[in-house]
Amino acid sequence: SREIHLKRRPVGTPVGEDFATVVIDVPPPDPGEVQVRNLWMAVDPAMRGRMSDAKSYVPPFALDAPMEGPAIGEVIGSNDPAFAPGDLVFSRLGWREIFNAPASALRHRDRSALPAQAWLCFAGMPGLTAYAGLMRIARLKAGDVVFVSAASGAVGSIACQIARNIGCTVIGSAGGPEKTAFLRDVLKVDAAIDYKAEPNLTKALAREVKAMGASGIDVYFENVGGDHLQAALSLANDFARFAVCGMISQYNVTDAPVVPRNLTMIMTKRIRMEGFIALDHMDLEAEMVERMTGWNAAGQMASAETVYEGIGQALDGLSGLFTGANIGRTLVRLGTE
Ligand code: NDP
Repeated sequence: SREIHLKRRPVGTPVGEDFATVVIDVPPPDPGEVQVRNLWMAVDPAMRGRMSDAKSYVPPFALDAPMEGPAIGEVIGSNDPAFAPGDLVFSRLGWREIFNAPASALRHRDRSALPAQAWLCFAGMPGLTAYAGLMRIARLKAGDVVFVSAASGAVGSIACQIARNIGCTVIGSAGGPEKTAFLRDVLKVDAAIDYKAEPNLTKALAREVKAMGASGIDVYFENVGGDHLQAALSLANDFARFAVCGMISQYNVTDAPVVPRNLTMIMTKRIRMEGFIALDHMDLEAEMVERMTGWNAAGQMASAETVYEGIGQALDGLSGLFTGANIGRTLVRLGTE
């Protein structure tokens, strides 16, 4: 079995020498342990943070040990009564093909209702993030005009589809013509903005709002910050709700940000702007999975994934997150069912 270790902490963009592929023999599971063969793992931007030893809300990856991340696997051996061969399980033990883990590190997942990888996508944390942000924080209702930034990403692509399914009008923004085509053709949004091609994002959003005969936006699902937030404030209707999920354009900013310049509009328009962390809303998980399963069965939840084949491509998947190469959730297929 192969696993990928962090050899040294990357400086800037990670390079191949920062990692090692290690071949190991996995012994039979000890009492209380389960042996799992991973089928899928996800990679996300937060993993880059864990490669550095800066203090954060999750500890850094250890050196000379396999990295971690969300994964879906199949039980192939069990020394614990709660798990049997053939069970589908979720763990945080990605970056390895076969592993033994204590039963407490695994969660059962239903393999009859959804494709296995959906548990890492719309029925997993990206799904919960989009669902909690829209339903609880933004109190979404049918008829709302909803603006989603980073709309082709893992969370954004699900947010667009939830809003569409609830009966909202959806405007998404993403970088490049391929991503805006994906927003229109696959996610079926009402309007898509290529922010990289627009010299003035506020004007572009105003143009799309006008073209649909709306007065402004009622809900903003914020992933990006900066000029995206400025545009959303400018086009917000009175009493608009802004769910702040992330501000990715600001994470690497070293100078003081120059936008948004129009924060006063939060008061003049009586906007309610609220940040949230998906982990605080785990109580919504069962409800979210039920609704996602229903939408999926009705053909109303397109999978939005970029798939890399095999553990040998896992690092390519990770670098694709930073070059803009990936659409939707980035997955690595580690084994076949
Ligand atoms: P994504 O799959 O959305 O990947 C990041 C996306 O951000 C890329 O698709 C890229 O899209 C876009 N992006 C990167 N830099 C910029 C920029 N300067 N301006 C505009 N867009 C940019 O990742 P996730 O779905 O995992 O995360 C989306 C957001 O949600 C992030 O802000 C993240 O921090 C946040 N998040 C928050 C959680 C919470 O609990 N609050 C949980 C998970 C994620 P493009 O190619 O179109 O530029």
